[in-house]
Amino acid sequence: MDENSVSYPTYTVPEHILQRFPVADRSIWKEASEKDWNSWIWQQQHRVKNLEQLEKVIRVTEDEKQAYEGSVEMFNMSITPYYASLMDPDNPNCPIRLQAVPKLGELHISPEDLEDPLAEERDMPVPGLTHRYPDRVLFYTTHNCAMYCRFCTRKRKVSDPGSAAQKKQLDDALDYIRQHPEIRDVVVSGGDPLSNSDERLDYILGSLRAMPHIEMFRLGTRNLVTLPQRITDDFIYMLRKHHPAYVNTHFNHPKECTREAYDACRRLADAGVPISNQMVLLKGVNDDPKIVKELNHKLLMMRVRPYYIYQCDLSQGISHFRTTIETGLNIIENLRGWTSGLAVPHLVIDAPGGGGKIPILPQYLLGKEGKKVKLRNFRNEEFTYVEP
Ligand SMILES: *Cc1c(COP(=O)(O)O)cnc(C)c1O
Ligand code: SF4
Repeated sequence: MDENSVSYPTYTVPEHILQRFPVADRSIWKEASEKDWNSWIWQQQHRVKNLEQLEKVIRVTEDEKQAYEGSVEMFNMSITPYYASLMDPDNPNCPIRLQAVPKLGELHISPEDLEDPLAEERDMPVPGLTHRYPDRVLFYTTHNCAMYCRFCTRKRKVSDPGSAAQKKQLDDALDYIRQHPEIRDVVVSGGDPLSNSDERLDYILGSLRAMPHIEMFRLGTRNLVTLPQRITDDFIYMLRKHHPAYVNTHFNHPKECTREAYDACRRLADAGVPISNQMVLLKGVNDDPKIVKELNHKLLMMRVRPYYIYQCDLSQGISHFRTTIETGLNIIENLRGWTSGLAVPHLVIDAPGGGGKIPILPQYLLGKEGKKVKLRNFRNEEFTYVEP
């Protein structure tokens, strides 16, 4: 029997779940038709890219104005109307606004900042491909994104049209993967790989699928958060052809969990695509256990599994977003045991200098005396396990 021909009855998500995912307030774009608003092309074409457009959406502060002037040469501002509609027009510390609108902190280069903190260039056997781990690679397929995140780790590359991946570069990277049978997992990234057309993605994924050593791949995209309209029927149709396919996305705050995002995740999950979330720990956005817990609970309702929390790395011009290691440990401490294990991601530091992701964990193992192992639980109660 052809498994693809199985049809299931439709299902409805209960209203009490859906109610927690409010529809974005699009009153600023009320002249846009329903069809326009729901079109990712329209959303891309109407991105907020300069001060004049920004002033129509929020009350821009002096700090933001100066930060925009000082940063625009280096790193574009670009906000989809959908994502901009989630910003608080009056509060410059709104967690959505902090991710999308420049702040003066960006212009400050702190002494520990590094140009290529993760040494992604060093581990690049061919342009556009980082091969650091034994069995998997990171594949940069474009330098464009729907929205440019102010805390982006790849600022030096992303949004720079001069560094856009050409077809030849894609083919060279695909050739490298083809010639390395030890690679079984490909992280298709960017920029945002969903900035590629469906045809281009189909070509990339189809090429990977034709290699017998490639077991799976993941698309690393923020479009579920910044441009959920991108998850069209055509896109899903294309992706389904290449199963087993995974998606890693990047929600940072519960305000990003809208009905639009819910629907996009639902369509992907219904197509059999497991979705994971990689959050970046950002000062003033999500450096609070209550916020992360609420985010992770919402993600699970959206069938998105919290996977990683990244410590903010040492890229240039993002020091104002960095938190202490203690902040991250405190978040894990407040999740583990207190809520579903599924809502507890791994806290990692992507080691400066290209060491890869290093997990950091609160200490639950207190010590050992002979065969007796002393442990503590999430309530700080002590227990003993006796080893054989
Ligand atoms: C994060 C990353 C991967 C994937 O790592 P996982 O821990 O398997 O999610 C692969 N290559 C590079 C260079 C990475 O930074
Ligand atoms: S979507 Fe990812 S690559 Fe693009 S700007 Fe945001 S963090 Fe950077």
